[in-house]
Amino acid sequence: MGKVITVNSVVFSYRLSLPPCLLIYSILKKLWEGEQMKVMKFGGTSVGRPERMHHIAGLVTNQGEPAIVVLSALSGTTNALVEIGELISKGDRNGAKQAIEKLEAHYQAFISELVAKPELLAKAKAILAEHFEFLTIILRISFSEALSKDILAQGELLSTKLFCVCLEELGIEHVLLPALEFMTIDNYDEPQIGSIKVKLTQQLQQHTNKKLFITQGYICRNAKGEVDNLKRGGSDYSASLIAAAINASVCEIWTDIDGMHNNDPRVVKKTMPVEQMSFEEAAELAYFGAKILHPASIWPAQQYNIAVKLLNTMEPEAKGTTIAGQAGSVGVKAVAAKDNITAIRIKSSRMLLAYGFLRKIFEVFEKYRTPIDMITTSEVAVSLTIDSTSNLKNILKELEPFGAIEVDENQAIISVVGNQVSQTEDMVKKLFGSIMNIPVRMVSYGGSPHNISLLVPAQYKTQLLQQLNRGMFGLE
Ligand code: ASP
Ligand code: MG
Repeated sequence: MGKVITVNSVVFSYRLSLPPCLLIYSILKKLWEGEQMKVMKFGGTSVGRPERMHHIAGLVTNQGEPAIVVLSALSGTTNALVEIGELISKGDRNGAKQAIEKLEAHYQAFISELVAKPELLAKAKAILAEHFEFLTIILRISFSEALSKDILAQGELLSTKLFCVCLEELGIEHVLLPALEFMTIDNYDEPQIGSIKVKLTQQLQQHTNKKLFITQGYICRNAKGEVDNLKRGGSDYSASLIAAAINASVCEIWTDIDGMHNNDPRVVKKTMPVEQMSFEEAAELAYFGAKILHPASIWPAQQYNIAVKLLNTMEPEAKGTTIAGQAGSVGVKAVAAKDNITAIRIKSSRMLLAYGFLRKIFEVFEKYRTPIDMITTSEVAVSLTIDSTSNLKNILKELEPFGAIEVDENQAIISVVGNQVSQTEDMVKKLFGSIMNIPVRMVSYGGSPHNISLLVPAQYKTQLLQQLNRGMFGLE
């Protein structure tokens, strides 16, 4: 009897003390780590029109937890800035001047619909004046690589500043965090989360009572301290790096589609969003052609185990896709295509029973910093694919001594991605049933449990994606 009472009282006192314990723990955790925040990244089309900017102003407020909002440039802007840079580099200053004027006219029209209050319209005008004056001054400076990066940075600088004016008009309290003060890359163009974390935390600590932060995606400083960027589409990468640096609760990537789909909606009629996938599956899909997410943006989230959500700005209630540690289910999730692939076959009887042959071949690609995507071997030949042909001539020259070389340009990789793809019932049957009438050049199966890749001449891409949609997903 006594024993029972003792046990009960232990349970009782344990129950009593649990909530205060948790409370103290969470207070200590908050003091130690700072309050958890979320990251919300909006792409070019989400900010590309004045009414859309207003719409996302609504989405980013009342989030419950503090948020860092990462913005791309307005859609079309980075392309225009690339063109301006190219015209200047070619010495066509007149052409560049016209392109700058056209872009400025677009922004003038944009701000006239963005804000109504005269003092804020004046503020928006001053922002345009500052950035377009900069572009005009650049016309008189001699062109350099560093200058072209300065030109490219104007897009995100403009979008974030204009969004802040929009927030101001709506009376929404916010802070603009300049990405150039915390987002950095090293000598190898690699971002270092450690130093980003230190710098970003310093910035955030200056505004401890604030809940909404706005910053630029894509742009950063390089090891020389110059303005640089994380390559085209890099705003997703910025968002994921920021999420990792602040240990965010979630990294939301808002675009104009309701998540990652099972197939390319531009190529096949009927597609469906995938609700959940693992980091590995998402990495394969992003790398092998799904345009919704920059492939590099997976690793920071994966390393720090931060869920990435792909959401639709136009349909905020839609589930979208959650990318996290767990795959959700076993089986094939999606197919994606990667264009502009070059296949190289090296045939040599010296490969027969030899060792070290592959190493020597790989060394050539390593020397020219060219990644290999697919590889298949037979006893006397090896076939591999690359998507960067900037060093192809040199590579082929150095491969010559190894045997007969064949090169096929204009190929496409179609990847079937999922979790334990081989365990899907009838998978192989369905897959091979779907590739009928298509001259498949290479098949890569077993490299990872998440991917089967097929190489086909580019002109068969659409047909194969359609046949796979029917054969593997039962969608027309
Ligand atoms: N504005 C940049 C681009 O168009 C970065 C991005 O949008 O992710 O590439
Ligand atoms: Mg993008």
